[in-house]
Amino acid sequence: MLKNPKILIDHQCPQCGAPVVLEETDHLFSCPYCKVKSYLYTSDFFRFVLPHRAPKGKTVIYFPYWHFKGILFSSLRERVDHRIVDVSHQALLSDHFPISLGLRSQVLKLRFPSNETQGSFLKPGLPLKDMMQAIRKRFSKGLPPPIYAQRFIGETISQIYSPFYVNGRLYDAVLNRPINSRPLEGVDIKALPESTPNWQIQFIPAQCPTCGWDLEGERDSIVLTCRNCSSLWIQAKKGFRKLEFGSVPAEKEQAVYLPFYCIEPEITGIQLDSYTDLIRVANLPKVIQKGMDERLFQFWSPAFKIRPLDFMRFSTALTLSQPRKNWEPRIPETEVYPVTLAADEALESLKISLACFMKPSGLLLPTLREIQIKAKSFVLVYFPFQTQKNEIFHTSFRLRTTRNMLNYARHL
Ligand SMILES: [Zn+2]
Ligand SMILES: [Zn+2]
Repeated sequence: MLKNPKILIDHQCPQCGAPVVLEETDHLFSCPYCKVKSYLYTSDFFRFVLPHRAPKGKTVIYFPYWHFKGILFSSLRERVDHRIVDVSHQALLSDHFPISLGLRSQVLKLRFPSNETQGSFLKPGLPLKDMMQAIRKRFSKGLPPPIYAQRFIGETISQIYSPFYVNGRLYDAVLNRPINSRPLEGVDIKALPESTPNWQIQFIPAQCPTCGWDLEGERDSIVLTCRNCSSLWIQAKKGFRKLEFGSVPAEKEQAVYLPFYCIEPEITGIQLDSYTDLIRVANLPKVIQKGMDERLFQFWSPAFKIRPLDFMRFSTALTLSQPRKNWEPRIPETEVYPVTLAADEALESLKISLACFMKPSGLLLPTLREIQIKAKSFVLVYFPFQTQKNEIFHTSFRLRTTRNMLNYARHL
């Protein structure tokens, strides 16, 4: 069985206060008691605290760690490498505290920090971008140079505070054990900068801004659906923003609709504006015909988390086939697979996607460094895939996956 550690969070329903357990990747929360649905969000990243077992009267010191999950793609001379990253890293560099959280965040239930959390919180001193850089360096070890392009895709980032206390030595307040045999001589933990996280998880009632209907989605959905007025919504500031979308009609029954982003790019550093350009850049065995010059080139990317190799296969297959616009702004009536990958993440992936199909690669890959890709616009498009038991496939794209694999990837 595939390893799939989840971070679980003890919380209360914002509406009725009932105790509930959330997952780190949750967005849409449906209360099993009062049935109210809320969308969870934060302007940057979630903060959590680990539970402690410190003796009464001891001041608990909360030490901050970054928790980072995501996939690092690297475009190399011979291939595109991918590494699944799931690490914790000190958010305040210190010799006295353990360098990582170890496995505890997967074993214990976390909480969001609140005004009731007693103790002193040490102030994170390592900025997010420095942490990412450190992780990038660590996970690039052993990759044969040159690396033409490198991207993290689909990351989940949070800060986790782990509890400690001082009793002659520094004690781990999760295990109630000293963390090393060295006494804390000459070390003044109290001198470290403190800062109580002035942060709270935000909730938006999951109701359609247009018609007031309950929005639908799964717990990790980042796009919510209104089946009453056929609209799709993503979180924007303190509310929802409408998303342009379409769905391709299914020709066969038993369809599950998988979401993809169709991105109209603005590219500099290489000529890739039309279908004709694509035929040249990807060295496709196709005859250039009249009208191909006028067909604008578009990138395609899965809008759901999927295993890294499949991410590349799915992006490449759709991008190379340049599906014609035959979608309508209609929500499919059969099963719709949740959008779990943000459009920003899909944008991040475009250089890697390009690296997957440029040919001849020896000649073109070195130009990747000069290439800049931005998005002019994007639209979310649902394609019908056929299902057969556990299998999910699309014959003309020649794509295939399974429900088990998709489920596994939801927590990547
Ligand atoms: Zn409730
Ligand atoms: Zn509506």
